[in-house]
Amino acid sequence: MIICSSATSFGASTVVFEIVLNTMLCLYSNMRFSKREKTAILKTWIAISIAFAIFMTDNFSSILSWQFLVNIILAGVTAGLGVILHEVAHKYFANKYGAYAEYESNDQMLLLTIIISFFRVIFAAPGAVKIIGHLDRKERGLVALAGPLCNFLLGLIFLALFFVLSPTLRPVASYGLIINSWIALFNMIPALSFDGAKIWEYNKLTYFGTTALIIILFLSQVPLKLF
Ligand SMILES: [Zn+2]
Repeated sequence: MIICSSATSFGASTVVFEIVLNTMLCLYSNMRFSKREKTAILKTWIAISIAFAIFMTDNFSSILSWQFLVNIILAGVTAGLGVILHEVAHKYFANKYGAYAEYESNDQMLLLTIIISFFRVIFAAPGAVKIIGHLDRKERGLVALAGPLCNFLLGLIFLALFFVLSPTLRPVASYGLIINSWIALFNMIPALSFDGAKIWEYNKLTYFGTTALIIILFLSQVPLKLF
């Protein structure tokens, strides 16, 4: 039993390492995006950035101010980037396993995300990567795992940036860390069509290991006193 357990543990950590490495490399690979897909990505990036900028705004009367524009840029490089790279990571791994994958935005949900952000609530279901082709249980699990791990990786980068950026730019790192670890955690819900459900179905140890790492990253905001 012990040998079996440690072998499973080694296999899972190798998979996690490969996912992290490949998610980093996917930023530089020659992925193909259709014109429709590029438009969907741009729409999602803009809508998510606006929604999070509204969410960050203390006073709604400042929505026509320069400060709001700064908030949009801040949300764009933290939340917007996190959501887009999450979807691109799914696409990259689906392509890797021989399936065709294309991101499709859900425009009604994007609009709803903006509207409810005025009530200080963020519920983002921006769209999904449509996959055409056969993937087995393991491949489906790894394609799902790529999304939350991409946000985990981004969160780690923002955590490192927190220690090197000047105090003026530190909010970028703080928001980046909190939002990306939150996106990762939210997607680990092991139910419905969340990534977590497919990872749970693939390998329980990978599910718990990844979730634990994400929780540790999310909680790092407490000792750092980010807010
Ligand atoms: Zn996902």
